Amino acid sequence: MTVIGIDDTDSRERGMCTTYLAARVAARIREEGGAVERRVLVRLNPAIEYKTRGNAALAVHTDLDAERALAVAREAVGSLAATDDPRTHPGVVVAPGEAMPEPVIEFARRAVRERLTIDEARRLIDSTGYRHAGWKESRGLIGALAAIGAWAAFGGWTYEHIAYREAHRRGTPRTVDHESVFAAADWGYPAAWDTVDREEGSAVCVPHAPGPILYGIRGDDPETVRGVADRIESEPVERTGIFVTNQGTDAHLREGSVGELRDGRAYRVSGTVSTPPETGRGGHVFFTLEDGGSVSDGTLKLEKFAVRDLVETELAVPSCPDCGRSMESAGRDQGYRCRDCGTSEPGKIECEIERALGRGWYEVPPCARRHIAKPLVRGGFDAPIHPER
Ligand code: ATP
Repeated sequence: MTVIGIDDTDSRERGMCTTYLAARVAARIREEGGAVERRVLVRLNPAIEYKTRGNAALAVHTDLDAERALAVAREAVGSLAATDDPRTHPGVVVAPGEAMPEPVIEFARRAVRERLTIDEARRLIDSTGYRHAGWKESRGLIGALAAIGAWAAFGGWTYEHIAYREAHRRGTPRTVDHESVFAAADWGYPAAWDTVDREEGSAVCVPHAPGPILYGIRGDDPETVRGVADRIESEPVERTGIFVTNQGTDAHLREGSVGELRDGRAYRVSGTVSTPPETGRGGHVFFTLEDGGSVSDGTLKLEKFAVRDLVETELAVPSCPDCGRSMESAGRDQGYRCRDCGTSEPGKIECEIERALGRGWYEVPPCARRHIAKPLVRGGFDAPIHPER
């Protein structure tokens, strides 16, 4: 099996999309008599600043030989990529059909969790002897190589069914029937997730950017995402594609502890909340963690959190057991007493507080979710979940 990796082909303004390019590559392979085994959409480190949007890279697995595979990919990138955008630096890498070398697998794992350089990608491509092509600074070689290693590097795959717009409609407002999207989302939930955001009333599956995607349906299995897509009424669709993805898997998280965190990475950390939360403009909630580190100017952004322990009592002035009124201080370190009844207590007493918050996992709503972050409804968490939908 030959694996074609492609990345960095699109532009925020001009609107292309590497998934579309991969879908076109797959179509071209079939026209040449080749078979396409799968298309892999891998989300790399979400903290990479060069990313256009969601830091995606694509791999197409085919039985075409490496030479012809490179020719097809090179032709597609050459004609479709938004290379005139100064920030777009495409790269294509082709791995022939042998077992995936361990360093390539490791490169894919690291590309999701840390920051890599073009030089390192080039060295690895040279040592494996992979065919490749680059445009401009060729930064896309990083993502293209990572996409090649992804299939062996990750597990727990999810699926996305993407519908693409007809060329002449791109850049114009999308026509997708809102009610049919919400009904389809209900039909597919929870095996299909992040289709809509009910709280916001928005169709999360329909992008706003000017690219070729009409909508993308994400879920646990190909049948469900296709079933949701079949129930959506919309403008005519140019083509559709099903991608195997690491979306919704938390593949980017590593273990860490507060005070030892580095920018540009994502962690699982434990902490103790030390101030009451305050809601700022735009609904962002801020609070302080004990022993706070100095990441991103001192702010950690939470994708999800688990409430492990709650403060459920507070110290309060005791009430008189006879008359029910608050006791008064009997003087420094002398406890409390009720002058009228003569009752006393040695100090403040513990009272229960009513907490609206329960133990367990909470998350950001679907409209704020990172592509790679695992929605709670997918399960596998170690405490009760409070999913947003
Ligand atoms: P698209 O819709 O095209 O997928 P995108 O949001 O995925 O857009 P890209 O245009 O692909 O963004 O830009 C991401 C760039 O960052 C690519 O050149 C890719 O090779 C590079 N990159 C990805 N992961 C890393 C990493 N871990 N370290 C360094 N560079 C990376």
